[in-house]
Amino acid sequence: MSNVKTALITGASRGIGFVVAGQLAEAGYHLAICGTREATIDQAAEKIRAASGAEVLARAVDVSDRDQIQGFVKETTNHFGRLDVLVNNAGITRDNISMRMKAEEWDAVINTNLSSVFHAMQAALRPMMKARGGRIINISSVVAGMGNPGQLNYCASKGGVEAMTRSLAREIGSRGITVNAVAPGFIETDMTADLGEEAHAQLTSQVPLGRLGQPQDIAAAVCFLASDAAAYITGQVLHVNGGMHM
Ligand code: NAP
Repeated sequence: MSNVKTALITGASRGIGFVVAGQLAEAGYHLAICGTREATIDQAAEKIRAASGAEVLARAVDVSDRDQIQGFVKETTNHFGRLDVLVNNAGITRDNISMRMKAEEWDAVINTNLSSVFHAMQAALRPMMKARGGRIINISSVVAGMGNPGQLNYCASKGGVEAMTRSLAREIGSRGITVNAVAPGFIETDMTADLGEEAHAQLTSQVPLGRLGQPQDIAAAVCFLASDAAAYITGQVLHVNGGMHM
């Protein structure tokens, strides 16, 4: 078994996941990262290797497919001989008002944002229990607590992630494994790039700290929860939203 800790981050080709992966690499972890497209996840891995010297296993994985995500967790554990940190970050939106929401919009968001988190955690439990330790960090959203018109599917998925986080934390605390969530506010990534100037200004006006968040703001919280300093924190949702929801 390698003496270098290993972290698996889903949805790390860009946005929050890419910056989380980069910060964990800087902190000395070997990485396993995935996105849906081989070309972009390979590029992300190359950038992280060049910046940090970390060993990076990169794969095209659709997390909404149970066999694919569980296979990737297994491959990571076999490759590095250990799995210390799992960050469930991959997520999508398919917004629509509830009356018009299509079955595909509901299914895609629930499968990608919620079921994938259960499947990845389930696969990670075996190596973590064997090692009698591990950190699971799930990326939720401020809207899980606030609600958001047009995002019923997304809010349901993130509310489910927070509820699963608490349940699993209670189930496996005695094994030395912590399970927490980070709930970002509005963060400047591709996911929020299409908002338009007016919506951007309107959202910013709701944030006491007067700006939208950056992926670095979220990555810092994830790295804290992965660190030894967070050993006594479990079942929590850490809100990183500039104060827009208190
Ligand atoms: P983003 O810029 O849209 O990036 C999403 C990432 O997830 C990409 O790497 C994408 O890979 C990957 N992904 C999407 N579907 C996937 C699938 N089926 N299988 C594997 N990977 C998949 O999103 P982001 O803004 O960084 O968001 C990251 C997380 O934070 C999400 O869970 C999101 O819900 C949450 N969040 C974001 C905000 C925000 O304001 N941005 C706020 C609250 C919560 P490809 O490049 O291959 O598509």
